[in-house]
Amino acid sequence: MAKKLPEVDVVLVGFGWTASVIAQELTDAGANVLALERGGWRDTVPDFSVTHIQDELRYAVRKQIFEETQRSTLTFRNRPDQLALPMRELGSFLPAAGVGGAGVHWNGQNWRFLPTDFQLRSHNEQRYGKKAIPADMTIQDWGITYEQLEPYYDKWEYLCGISGKAGNIGGKIQPGGNPFEGPRRREYPLPPLKRSAATVLFDKAAREVGLHPFPAPAANTSKPYLNPLGVQMGQCTFCGYCEWFGCANYSKASPQTTILPVLLKKDNFSFRTHCSVTRVLTDSTGKRATGVVYVDAAGNEFIQPAQMVVLCAFAHHNVHLLLVSKIGTPYDPQSQTGVVGRNYAYQLSSDVNVTCKERLNPFMGAGALGQVVDDFNGDNFDHTGKGFIGGGYIALWNTGGRPILQEYLPESTPKWGGGWKKALHDDYLYSTHMQCHGGMMSYRNNYLDLDPTWTDDYGNPLLRLTFDFYDNEHAMSKFLTDRATDIAKAIPNRGINPKPRKGHYSIIPYQTTHNTGGAAMGNDPRTSFVNPFLQSWDVPNLWVMGSTVFPQNPGYNPTGTGGALAFWAADAMKRYIRNPQPLVQT
Ligand SMILES: Cc1cc2nc3c(=O)[nH]c(=O)nc-3n(C[C@H](O)[C@H](O)[C@H](O)COP(=O)(O)OP(=O)(O)OC[C@H]3O[C@@H](n4cnc5c(N)ncnc54)[C@H](O)[C@@H]3O)c2cc1C
Ligand code: SF4
Repeated sequence: MAKKLPEVDVVLVGFGWTASVIAQELTDAGANVLALERGGWRDTVPDFSVTHIQDELRYAVRKQIFEETQRSTLTFRNRPDQLALPMRELGSFLPAAGVGGAGVHWNGQNWRFLPTDFQLRSHNEQRYGKKAIPADMTIQDWGITYEQLEPYYDKWEYLCGISGKAGNIGGKIQPGGNPFEGPRRREYPLPPLKRSAATVLFDKAAREVGLHPFPAPAANTSKPYLNPLGVQMGQCTFCGYCEWFGCANYSKASPQTTILPVLLKKDNFSFRTHCSVTRVLTDSTGKRATGVVYVDAAGNEFIQPAQMVVLCAFAHHNVHLLLVSKIGTPYDPQSQTGVVGRNYAYQLSSDVNVTCKERLNPFMGAGALGQVVDDFNGDNFDHTGKGFIGGGYIALWNTGGRPILQEYLPESTPKWGGGWKKALHDDYLYSTHMQCHGGMMSYRNNYLDLDPTWTDDYGNPLLRLTFDFYDNEHAMSKFLTDRATDIAKAIPNRGINPKPRKGHYSIIPYQTTHNTGGAAMGNDPRTSFVNPFLQSWDVPNLWVMGSTVFPQNPGYNPTGTGGALAFWAADAMKRYIRNPQPLVQT
């Protein structure tokens, strides 16, 4: 029988990026906050020390710090008429397990979405007509504007010490920055990272073909940085072991390097590791959350009562918990009713590998060291006659040149033996790649629900993912890959290998861990699970964080917006604590 524990003001499910922001903000406001994390404790010292963190086999191939599929996984199919099967190993995306969440091993590619991204449906309908949006595309406006979120983007960027160059300050376009970005109030806290040889080549080539390159905004510090909480970060050393690894150097923004040194000292904050939340509890009316049930490492079950429950468990897990807890109406693609599981989306990326004439030394890099063009993102260009809406950015990322998974050798290179060794010798130091990072619309038949057959370690049905790419995304991806190839051709090269993404979505190769939707935000409870403040319409003391609330996925990486929304929601929660009511009346 589950043991009932003393009540707390706020229980956070998960202790990653968004939970750390909420915990810091609500404890400052006086609330007693508890975070429950299914993974273990880890910190820069000793877990990410240089003596062992730069082990590609252990972390990137054997995926030591990611979710363990033996405990919980999901089933997958492309279309509703197929049988979904459980994933014994994850590939396409890699959710985290452990304190800091995926904030520990993310790259740090940190973006603000475009102002038009937040009004996706109304903007596109107004510019291209209602017919431009196919009937089965379920895109919608977010219920907030870029202008409302701007102060919170600023707060997030200064928390993390983002290195970058502003493109638009207060409406005035800034030379060297992204001319397409929405107006920001001030410069980035740190200047851009130093350029690599490859990004210099990209910059020159992009300008030659008439585009507007700029340095990618990076959560890798270009200089030592003291953040507003008084936490000190060190300067990035371009170690090249960033994506999929913890940072040994206090240079990549993560909960551990930006918030936890302050948060963990507070008397009104506590956390428990190896505690998997299995259910959110509600009272007999179903309109009030009363706490959560969790299971510890020894298999003991506990009831943790709380005045407020905040789901910070990352996209899939937030939706899974809502479904197994029977909160909200599950989405039904047949009748197109219900909201939990609706509007799941992902990212459509493709690559162009280039073997340059100039030596590049690709082994030096950082997770977000890159030069980017935004000319083909969102609605930054006229889509008339193109056959798709939306877009993405094209970047030359110099994230590193790790020995196993990061050799961008010519396509003809054999996979082993003498031919492979020769190509490695001749081409490795000259090789780089560009990424087209495209958005993804939401569709009627892309959704999350509970699998009728398979269960997890705790006896709950597994989450079932039904997902595929559609014509809009294929047309967009081809367009972006062609534009990246135009840039590649302007780089003095010995070979170009465009790799457009074709056919059905495959869950096997890694693409991005940018899973979105399933509990979308919006102004209409019939199409959104949370209101614009990320508060559940049905259960007002339940809140959902992270990319779970995106109604579709814009062309950028999600975390900058997830972080900004966490600050925005924390302000709303403070209002709610003073006066516990739905913040938007229906
Ligand atoms: C390899 C990699 C690279 C990435 N690079 C970028 C990038 O460059 N730019 C970008 O914008 N984004 C990037 N991301 C995505 C980014 O890391 C996430 O968007 C961000 O961490 C999400 O924050 P979150 O708080 O929603 O979830 P997380 O930070 O992942 O935290 C969720 C936490 O909840 C815990 N949890 C889950 N279920 C339960 C449960 N039932 N009970 C208790 N705890 C639970 C998990 O263990 C985890 O610690 C990357 C992700 C990966 C994996
Ligand atoms: S590249 Fe920089 S930020 Fe990334 S892990 Fe290495 S030192 Fe840290």
